Amino acid sequence: MPQRFNLVLRGGHVVDPANGTDARMDVGLRLGKIALVAERIDDELADDIIDVIGKIVMPGHIDTHAHLSGPFDQSGTRAYGHVMLAKSGTTTALDLAGEPGALAEGMKRKGAGMNVATILGLVPHTTIKEDDPGIGTMRDVVSDALERGSIGVKLLGGYHPFTPESTSQVIAAANEQLAWVAFHVGSKDSGSDLIGLREVPEITGNGRLHVAHINSYCRGLVMDNLEECNEAFEIIESKRSQFVTEAYLAQVNGTNGKCDEDGNLVYNVAQNCMRARGYATTDAGMRQALLDGYGGALTERGGRIVIVTGEEAVRIWEEKSTDASLSFPVNPATSAFSLTTAKYDDGEFRVDAVSTDGGSLPRNVAIERTMALVDFGALSLLEAATKLTYTPSRMLGLLNKGHFSEGADGDITVINRETGKATLSLVNGEPIMINGRVVGNGGTWLVKSEAEKTAASSGLPYQVIDLEQSKLYAGWR
Ligand SMILES: [Zn+2]
Repeated sequence: MPQRFNLVLRGGHVVDPANGTDARMDVGLRLGKIALVAERIDDELADDIIDVIGKIVMPGHIDTHAHLSGPFDQSGTRAYGHVMLAKSGTTTALDLAGEPGALAEGMKRKGAGMNVATILGLVPHTTIKEDDPGIGTMRDVVSDALERGSIGVKLLGGYHPFTPESTSQVIAAANEQLAWVAFHVGSKDSGSDLIGLREVPEITGNGRLHVAHINSYCRGLVMDNLEECNEAFEIIESKRSQFVTEAYLAQVNGTNGKCDEDGNLVYNVAQNCMRARGYATTDAGMRQALLDGYGGALTERGGRIVIVTGEEAVRIWEEKSTDASLSFPVNPATSAFSLTTAKYDDGEFRVDAVSTDGGSLPRNVAIERTMALVDFGALSLLEAATKLTYTPSRMLGLLNKGHFSEGADGDITVINRETGKATLSLVNGEPIMINGRVVGNGGTWLVKSEAEKTAASSGLPYQVIDLEQSKLYAGWR
């Protein structure tokens, strides 16, 4: 007797780069896994059928740079990111500068059914005791973070830069424990720009590193932005087997408008936003930039985070005594295009993945902007799926995701070809988003084996992941 399917997605355009599928197919799911991809699955064999004729059906979007919790997030608003990200079609996310306890709490309260891993943001005197930690301190910080449910750590060079030496030691300590380590570049000797990126190969040495949001260093602050992209490509290529990378496609960034007692902007990223348009890097410059509508402030509205501008933005910034989340349109479209489409001679993409750097930051446009590049003829559908799901799955060692081979996880993103937006997503064969409405809750916590106890006692479903399988640590031992 033929096997039955719990669910069949009928008649979509299936895009699965790992299996070279780019055609109209039915997808059959059984017990939360992919059971069969075939030209036609008999209605009689399906318990349930969803018609996706004319839609793109790809393995679920894996966002390798999102924000769902965080050391900056006293009010817990980052947890809104679960719904915001799921609404855009994402099924798996790496919370890139989180706090594991806060992530687990946020997932319970506001989770949207995604698979989520987090890495601990390193903030001196907040998540770590000291500034410029040495390797001894970092060994303890990393092992503690892993036990508490992080899969690694994030260097926040644009906000809390360390010396280059300390940065190297953070990377080395993480590498020793096969922990994820991501770097928003910038040290006490450089900045969150191309000059910061130039330091990274030497800082990394023989180590492994996730170099976060390459687009952030190609904003035209040091040279012409396309020249910056070309130099960024050379830098990445010089450590091709040691770096994993992503870039996001939103024009707006995220930053923080905190000023010191002398009225100067504290964070390099915010200073750069001011410099990009000739504003002073002071509270007066920031106030004017907000009043002019150049940037905006983030605030919660109706269960999600939105950007507001003008006087309202100034009011929010002042109410938070300047320590407020802000956003500026500093990402040039030409850099985004170049970083997303450029390839090596062997056909591999120079930047591994399209990320959002979103979640709770309202710029979850990875899918729709990647689809716009398909419309433009800059990427094929198979290439779009490579950047949105297949390569991200390899980056994280999630070998059961990112493809539709028999037995793969039933994580699927269905996209409307006309709008480029996701209209349905499934995790483990269950819908978490239908027509833009999020129906999932909670989520699966992705942890390393060190956190099994923490994860088991959290009450959340969890999955132990093996970073030895990841592209980050490929060939490491
Ligand atoms: Zn980020």
